[in-house]
Amino acid sequence: SCLKTALPPIERHIPTTPTISAIIAGLQVQYAVRLLHGKPIPRSHRIGYYGLSDLFFDAALLPTATCTTHAYSDPLPLSEIHELPLRAAETTMGELFATVRKELGVSEVILDLYDDRDLVVALRCPACRKETPAVGVVGKVTEAEARCPSCTEIRTPHTVASVEAPEDFGDHTLLDIGIPPGQILVFRDRARSTLHFFELSGDL
Ligand SMILES: [Zn+2]
Ligand SMILES: [Zn+2]
Repeated sequence: SCLKTALPPIERHIPTTPTISAIIAGLQVQYAVRLLHGKPIPRSHRIGYYGLSDLFFDAALLPTATCTTHAYSDPLPLSEIHELPLRAAETTMGELFATVRKELGVSEVILDLYDDRDLVVALRCPACRKETPAVGVVGKVTEAEARCPSCTEIRTPHTVASVEAPEDFGDHTLLDIGIPPGQILVFRDRARSTLHFFELSGDL
């Protein structure tokens, strides 16, 4: 019942188009909106659409107890989420790290964003090779902001998928940086390499 295990590369590829992706994306948004309104959504089903033959299918799925990778992106167990009384719009990266270190009773933690989002930490000019600190998420930096002030070349964002030095983000709030209210963040205890989940519960 699972698509989470990597399969060997396939020889034959089925061409697809953005149109079909758009139909599926529209369905996903429809289910998300229904879920947010407390309406029923299909569970344990795989719904598919063949764009060349106009065929919709709806297959029932069964859980497989022996699946070894199934838990990779399954829902987090509520009991393991630490609730922090912090709000994204009022908390800096430094304050978040201080709270997490205290909660875990350790001195070194890493914010792990690998399955979440990339953060912009600087803009680099390919022409004059200057790097300027900047914060935000990929896709939020406008073209005007991206232009190099010295040579007007478009600069490329330098992004990171984990944070070890919260001071790099200065006084910017988590919201400024691109972390939304109520987010659940994954921290790694550097010494023990264990993962811990923290929710910005002050927003909820
Ligand atoms: Zn599975
Ligand atoms: Zn430049």
